Amino acid sequence: MATTTTPNGKFSTANGHPRISEFKLKEQMADIGRRIWLKGFCAGNEGNHSYRLSEDRILCTPSLISKGNLKPDDMCIVDMNGKQISGKRKRTSEILLHLAIYRERPDVRAVIHSHPPHATAFAVADVELPTCIHPEAEVFLGPVKTAKYVTPGDTRLGQSIKPFVKDSNTILLGNHGVVCYGPDLEDAYYKLEIVDAYARILLLVKQLGSVKPLGADEMKELLALKSKFGMFDPRTAPGASPEKMACGGVDYVSRVGGEIGTKGRMQSSSGGTVPVPTGSELRPSTAVQSSPMEQAIHQMLPSNYNEKDIDHLVQTITDQIMAAAS
Ligand SMILES: [Zn+2]
Repeated sequence: MATTTTPNGKFSTANGHPRISEFKLKEQMADIGRRIWLKGFCAGNEGNHSYRLSEDRILCTPSLISKGNLKPDDMCIVDMNGKQISGKRKRTSEILLHLAIYRERPDVRAVIHSHPPHATAFAVADVELPTCIHPEAEVFLGPVKTAKYVTPGDTRLGQSIKPFVKDSNTILLGNHGVVCYGPDLEDAYYKLEIVDAYARILLLVKQLGSVKPLGADEMKELLALKSKFGMFDPRTAPGASPEKMACGGVDYVSRVGGEIGTKGRMQSSSGGTVPVPTGSELRPSTAVQSSPMEQAIHQMLPSNYNEKDIDHLVQTITDQIMAAAS
């Protein structure tokens, strides 16, 4: 994408769209850094973020500086191989993580990596963030996967997230932190806030001792809403596999279910608290149809799915629950 500087300081692309000037973007990078630091999402010099200026130029934060204390002048520019082109400070050592995302996703213009404590707790515990629980997380994040741990800054970091980049906008990095990405810095930052708030809610839910998943109709409405707003979701994408259609995160839900087993549970006025079946409550796949989670899965399946597909899906989820509960 060729860029030129116009007399008013704005950048314009080959297709004629005006773009914010480089200095304004550097100011925005500093501002986002301050917000990340103020929210307590990073400690010391942790975290980094970047913005795609053009096809081969990425604006990124430098290493060894607090994200709460960034100045526009501190930013670096690198090419798509990570080679530093400009900037008086050394570019972040984790730029390869960002570049892996830019390579896979031409639509992405901004990447933020940080260590927000609540979401990072799930990455450290290796507990997948569940779906079908909270509308904000469903609409703005969708399914969030956890990438395998690799040493921070290592070249394998980009490889570790590769399986999830296309279908996600937020990925947990095993024993490490979170990476969020989107069409601009503000959007990527919102995802960072949302994933940490969601993880915090889940931790509080665990203390309360029960979880009420969204019902099938509620999930259908949320997915329809996303589709109406033109927001991608892998569960409703053409050709989505039965596994992708399932409500995920049985590990978390079964842990809350385990707490219920030992501590009892709070009942809502509608009697709506729903532990996920564990151990003896599980039935053979042919008879599994009763929990809202299972009903949601059934209702989310396209009409052209046959009984065999449904049986396979239910069996897969049952196996996961059994594995998590054992
Ligand atoms: Zn990190």
